[in-house]
Amino acid sequence: MLTKEIIETEKRVHLQTYLRSEIVFTHGKGVYLYDSEGKRYLDFISGIAVNAFGHCDEQFQRVLTKQAAKLWHCSNLYYSEPQVRLAKILVDNSFADKVFFCNSGTEAVEGALKIARKYATSTKDENCFDIIAFNRSFHGRTIGALSATGQPKFWEGFKPLLAGFEYANFNDLESVEKLISEKTCAIIVEPIQGEGGIYPAEIEFLNGLRELCHNNRCLLILDEIQCGLGRTGNLFVYEHYGILPDIVTLAKPIAAGLPMGAILLTDTVAKQIKYGDHGSTFGGSPLVASVAELVVERIHDKSFLKRVKENGHYLITQLENLRLRFEEIGSIRGIGLMVGMDVNVDVNKIIRSCAENGLLLLKAGENTMRFIPPLIIEKSHIDEAIEKLIKAFEKVREENG
Ligand SMILES: *Cc1c(COP(=O)(O)O)cnc(C)c1O
Repeated sequence: MLTKEIIETEKRVHLQTYLRSEIVFTHGKGVYLYDSEGKRYLDFISGIAVNAFGHCDEQFQRVLTKQAAKLWHCSNLYYSEPQVRLAKILVDNSFADKVFFCNSGTEAVEGALKIARKYATSTKDENCFDIIAFNRSFHGRTIGALSATGQPKFWEGFKPLLAGFEYANFNDLESVEKLISEKTCAIIVEPIQGEGGIYPAEIEFLNGLRELCHNNRCLLILDEIQCGLGRTGNLFVYEHYGILPDIVTLAKPIAAGLPMGAILLTDTVAKQIKYGDHGSTFGGSPLVASVAELVVERIHDKSFLKRVKENGHYLITQLENLRLRFEEIGSIRGIGLMVGMDVNVDVNKIIRSCAENGLLLLKAGENTMRFIPPLIIEKSHIDEAIEKLIKAFEKVREENG
């Protein structure tokens, strides 16, 4: 199909819920993507923090094709080795004693909410179903995950939401203290708010949440779907904060682009889940799990994480330099290779201009540019991105006179 034909046909036959850029991608290699016209793009989106190892990495191709010749799926009625190996490497390298696999971030959140309610039903009583979430958060699109998402714009047309959700302000412990009660079963929070605009939690805030949960016998659920698995330069974001969560949700980068979500939990919580309480047909299939095992193995390597930290630091430094040059740039926030930069001009204009120059960038919140490149990025790629950004800001400046 011709490029134009693909775009026109999509508009006719696919549900119109994605406002897509008019680019058709055909292949990718490393940190670059190529479109149907042969144009090359430096990928600073990574499929929304999914392609941590860039595109078409040969080690992943080998693992995938090897497993594809053996067994793809056998259901969770039986055991399979890749799933067990993946669970083991996650347990061996985290706070968790148990893992559950599903197929997306939303599903991981949904499962975590169910587990929290089951835990409260068993340890307190079934009226303890309240969940505290945060304004500006994002946890997914199913009714449960949507109810945890503290952004009314996502609710429009889908009410009533699930009962029992309350919203506090991020980085404002007092607003949580006001809501918490003996009816609370969990607090769910992104240690770094992603979709909301890249806002890292303050140390005192996350520590305060941990203590509040402890004192009120409710669970601390960390949604590390976007920020976790190496993006900040640690395998898990909670490590930066020196706290231990009760539940962590993972997804985006976990299987290098294949769909997978995971729920990590402690034995104390896991004990309250009985056979048949939760499940998934596809979750943790041998094909996806074999790829995910290599992802976790490669990320948890110390020198790999050190490079992420160094490059994240370099990216922030270069953006800070850019800010000295352009008054259009406001605050810069982030940890490792998860960085947000506020702009006081139309953020969509800058992003469109970057795409024209062959650089893919994403928005977060209302006026924040989001930098979530593949974790294998090198300094030269960051320099290349900065050059393209300079062009984009100069162009917007010209247009605005
Ligand atoms: C993307 C995201 C989700 C939802 O994940 P899906 O795989 O799109 O269902 C949930 N929480 C956070 C923090 C996310 O960034």
